[in-house]
Amino acid sequence: MSSWDGVLRGGRVIDPESGLDAIRDVAVAQGRIAAIGRGLPPAPAEVDVAGLVVTAGFVDLHSHVNDVAGLRLQALDGVTTALELEAGMTPVAAAYRHAAAEGRPVNYGFATSWALARMHAVAGIRPRGTLGTFLASIGDPAWQRRARPAEVAALLSALADDLADGALGIGILVGYAPAVSPAEYLQVATLAAAAGGPTFTHARDLIEMVPGTVIDGAEEIVRAAGQTGAHMHYCHVNSTSQRHIERVLALVSRAQAAGARVTTEAYPYGYAMTGIGAAFLAPERLAERGLVPSSLTYAPTGERVSGTERLRELRRTDPGGLAMIELLDENEPSDRALLMRSLTFPGSVVASDAMPLTWTAPPPDPVGWPLPKTAVTHPRTAGTFARAVRLLARGEGRLGLPEALRKCSLGPAQLLQDRVPAMRRKGRLQSACDADVVVFDPAGITDRASYADSTRPSAGIRHVLVNGTFVVRNGELVHEALPGRAVRAEPR
Ligand SMILES: [Zn+2]
Repeated sequence: MSSWDGVLRGGRVIDPESGLDAIRDVAVAQGRIAAIGRGLPPAPAEVDVAGLVVTAGFVDLHSHVNDVAGLRLQALDGVTTALELEAGMTPVAAAYRHAAAEGRPVNYGFATSWALARMHAVAGIRPRGTLGTFLASIGDPAWQRRARPAEVAALLSALADDLADGALGIGILVGYAPAVSPAEYLQVATLAAAAGGPTFTHARDLIEMVPGTVIDGAEEIVRAAGQTGAHMHYCHVNSTSQRHIERVLALVSRAQAAGARVTTEAYPYGYAMTGIGAAFLAPERLAERGLVPSSLTYAPTGERVSGTERLRELRRTDPGGLAMIELLDENEPSDRALLMRSLTFPGSVVASDAMPLTWTAPPPDPVGWPLPKTAVTHPRTAGTFARAVRLLARGEGRLGLPEALRKCSLGPAQLLQDRVPAMRRKGRLQSACDADVVVFDPAGITDRASYADSTRPSAGIRHVLVNGTFVVRNGELVHEALPGRAVRAEPR
C-alpha cells in the first residue's frame, strides 16, 4: 500500500500543457497530484475512472458568485477555482476574510474594484467587500460623474492598497460609468502596469452602438495595453460586442500582433444578465443595443418588463435587481456563429460571468441542498463549462477535447500566473500540481440549466476534487465539503 491518499484509476488523462492524452492512474496525496503513471500501486481510496476523462479542474476568471450555494452549482459544472476579477472587491482583505470565515467548496480570489473604489472616492458610498454595494448603487449617477484630480488620486490609492494586500488585479466596470474620462482609465492601467497586475474590463459602449461615446470601448482597452504596457483582459467579449464581434476581435488580433498584452474571454450564451439599473438599460438607451423593454426579464418576479413605465419603476425601486437581457439569439445561426467565434478565437478563454442567486422567496436555509426552485440565476452560473466543452469539443467549435479543455483550465491559469505564482500549480494535471481535478464522461458532458430552469446542475461531471477533497462524488454534491482555499497574488 502506498502512502498516497487515493488513486483515480485507469482514466483518460488529458493535460493540455504537456500534451498528455493517455490512459493513466492519478495518485493524490496531501492536496497535490503525487504521481501520474501506469499501474500505480494501490492506495487507501481507489476510484475506478475507466472510460472517463481526468483533467485539471476548470478555472473561472469571472464569477460574481460569493456564497456557498451558488459555488456548489459551479463545482457541479467542474469549476474548482472561481475568481471575482471583473467587478472585483474592495477592501480585498475584507472579502478574503468573509470567504474564509464562511468556507468555500472551491478555491476563491478577488481583484480589487475600480467601481467600488470610485463609488467611495466620488460619491461617499462606503465599500464593504461585497458586490451588494455595487449593485445597490449601480444606477446612481453620483458615482459615474467625472472625477476631480484629488478624487482620482484617492481611488488610485485604494486600488494600490488592495494590490499590496494580494489582490489578483484590477476589475474595471467602466461600461457602467460611460462618461468617465478616458484619461482616468489610462491612469488605472498605468497603476496596474507598475504593480505587475492584469486588469479586467467590462468595456464601454462600442462606437457602432453609441456614436457619441467618449471613446470606443474596444479601442480603449487595446490602446491602454499599447500605451501603458499593462495586461488588459477583455471580459465577456461576446456580450459587450454583440454583432460587432468580428470587428472587435480583429482589433484585438492586431494589437496582439503588435506586442500588446490583450486577452479575451467569452461565455456560450446569447443572453446577458446584470442589475436593471445599469446605465445602458435606461429606457431611452435600449435601442442602441436593439432592445425594447420586453427584451428584459426581471429575475425577482420572473416578469417580462411590460413597458417603459415599468422599466423606470424597477430601475427606481430595485436598481440592483438582476435582469436577463436578450442580446443574441442562440437559435439564430448567424448569432450562434458569433458566439462560437468569440469562444474559438485563438487564446480566448471560457469564463462564466456567473451571477449571484436571486431568491424569489426567502431561502429556508441558505446552505440547504438541493436548491429550492425559489433560487434563480442566469443558466451560465450552472452550465457554462459543461456547455463550452460540449460545444467546443463535440459541437460546432470542432477544437477537439484537449484544446477545449485548455480554454477552461490551462488558459485562465496562464493568464494570471505572472502575478499569481500559485496559478502555476493550477490548470494542469501534472505531478506536484494542486489536486484540483474534474472527472467527466466525454460523451455525456452537457449543461442542463436553461433560461426557464436556471439552476439545473450540469450532467456528465462524475467527480470533482478541490485540493484533493471530493466536492462532487459519483455526480452528487458532497454537502459538508468546503476545501476551497484563498488564491492570492504575491505583490512585487
Ligand atoms: Zn460584465
